[in-house]
Amino acid sequence: MTNKELAQIFNTIADLLEIKGEVIYKILAYRRAATSLADYEQDVNEVWRAGKLKKITGVGDAIADKINELLSTGKLDFYEKLKKEVPAGLVEVLAIQDVGPKKAALFWKKLGITTVPDLEKAARQGKLRELSGMGEKSEAKILAGIAARKRSTGRVMLGQAWPIAQEIVKFLRSLVGVEAAEVAGSLRRMRSTIGDLDFLVAAHNAEPIMAAFVTHPQVVRVLGQGPTKSSVELVNGLQADLRVLPPERFGTLLQYFTGSKEHNVKLRELALSKGLSLSEHAFTRKNGKEILCATEVEVYKTVGLAYIPPEMREDRGELQNAARGELPRLIEVKDLQSELHAHSKWSDGAAGIREMAFAARSRGLKCLAMTDHSQSLGVTGGLTPERLRAQRREIDAVQSELGVSFSLLQGAEVEIKADGHLDYTDDILEDLDIVVASLHSSLRQERQKITDRLIQAIHNRHVDIIGHPTGRLIPDREGADLDMEAVLKAAAESGVALEINANPARLDLDDIYARRALELGCLLAINSDAHHPSHFELAHFGVGTARRAWATPEAVINSWPVEKLLHWLDERGHRRMRNGPRPAPVTLPAPEVSRPKPKNGPAPALKIKAMLKVKRKPVAVKKSNAAKRPAKTKSK
Ligand SMILES: [Zn+2]
Ligand SMILES: [Zn+2]
Repeated sequence: MTNKELAQIFNTIADLLEIKGEVIYKILAYRRAATSLADYEQDVNEVWRAGKLKKITGVGDAIADKINELLSTGKLDFYEKLKKEVPAGLVEVLAIQDVGPKKAALFWKKLGITTVPDLEKAARQGKLRELSGMGEKSEAKILAGIAARKRSTGRVMLGQAWPIAQEIVKFLRSLVGVEAAEVAGSLRRMRSTIGDLDFLVAAHNAEPIMAAFVTHPQVVRVLGQGPTKSSVELVNGLQADLRVLPPERFGTLLQYFTGSKEHNVKLRELALSKGLSLSEHAFTRKNGKEILCATEVEVYKTVGLAYIPPEMREDRGELQNAARGELPRLIEVKDLQSELHAHSKWSDGAAGIREMAFAARSRGLKCLAMTDHSQSLGVTGGLTPERLRAQRREIDAVQSELGVSFSLLQGAEVEIKADGHLDYTDDILEDLDIVVASLHSSLRQERQKITDRLIQAIHNRHVDIIGHPTGRLIPDREGADLDMEAVLKAAAESGVALEINANPARLDLDDIYARRALELGCLLAINSDAHHPSHFELAHFGVGTARRAWATPEAVINSWPVEKLLHWLDERGHRRMRNGPRPAPVTLPAPEVSRPKPKNGPAPALKIKAMLKVKRKPVAVKKSNAAKRPAKTKSK
């Protein structure tokens, strides 16, 4: 045991005692010992062997005895007992800024919170504010602390890791002898950020596959290469591990490394209750006989469960539901019928309406809403009412070219202004086919103000969707300080759909809020917020987030048949929707020149990177130059 490891144990002991409410001088004694052990120049093992432990500052009889026990047995009875009295996860909770031992103890004793995810959930549901000494402000601070800690853990965006992971999987599958290859871990579970990549291969002979893996062009450094596992560092700094097992063991391997840890703990407990131990290699019976699983379906079947999709494996009730045969039918990319949030050159998009519409149709969509920015967002070329009318003529012309099998809607992404008013008057909103209302400016208003502002927009009867509700940007901009419980309730009440913005830099709502939204009866919308035809393919990140929230196709308005969607819009007060969008009476020539159609295949890494760029500069509110801006002006 090193000096550092000893110090860490004594620090944890002090933390645990503090949560328990032990007298302060005892706690301080452990802290002092921890500090001097960490700073001690000589190896404590040598000092111990020489019998001179008490020479170290802060080490008296009691601590010396404990060091002695630790170094001679590798364990400390006192510490083990303490860990049983106080849940270990609370130490992680203590590491959150603004959570001291007193608060940790309060959360644990009053709400049963023992882990950081528990804490986050309770804070998001507004439960912390009800505790004595807590309020909305301190609750919001804790959420900020959790977000800050997540950011500091060096994870990368799902959208950045995704194309590289797909490239490597494809490469692995191309190797001779590979019967199956997958990427597992949090990427397979579609978490918004990824810590590292886990590649898994089914093959009888691992050696040549390991050898090929470490020579992949994405690899900059080999950290280790063994017979069943290799670790490398990739160009973008991510660590990637490859594990190879024979095909008959691939099911347990894939299940194990897909995680999450919490899900797997519960699954192993379930297996144990049936007399089976479960590892990445196999199930093992008490008599030592193995049960091999080539697929994950077999793994879950062996413990009496239906197959659980990777996105659900977070120990949020999925095992219980699978045991009862009550897993929801999760939404899939192929369920999507409509894209309801997209920009063209009329504001800050990179392509014309015609190009966007044809690209959407070639992806198999049946409906596209063009939702360019509203007038007050000057720097994005937001549309004045006058330009909105001109845009309508173009949309009608493209609609008649598309024919009746595709609906092209005129919507707008309407700015919710700092005072809560919308950027267009009600009669303009009524003339639009669909309205997405979003916050882009004054995101740092204080909690009550910005919550009221968003709820005011939710209550406007012409608003259909709230775009990227919190305004967060991954990894470095937290969402607005909203009382989300109040926001979600208001949305459920007025039937407004909440967006899961599929841009990997947003994924907003996130999975936890989206799940809560569904629990409260809200509708969701999954939108790519495309600024270019190639952005439509980002929708699958939004679908992944929705699946993590257990969303079914029925709960997502984009997967409704277009007829049903148009009817819904009609009822929400958009007058043209009664009979669906009609082809324009006069067919005008499409004013924008069509460019070559984009390919539908997976985008290369560089292209994806470019499309992830979301404007991070604060948006200035300028009305004057937007009005004068000609329609074709190229915006940044
Ligand atoms: Zn927006
Ligand atoms: Zn947008």
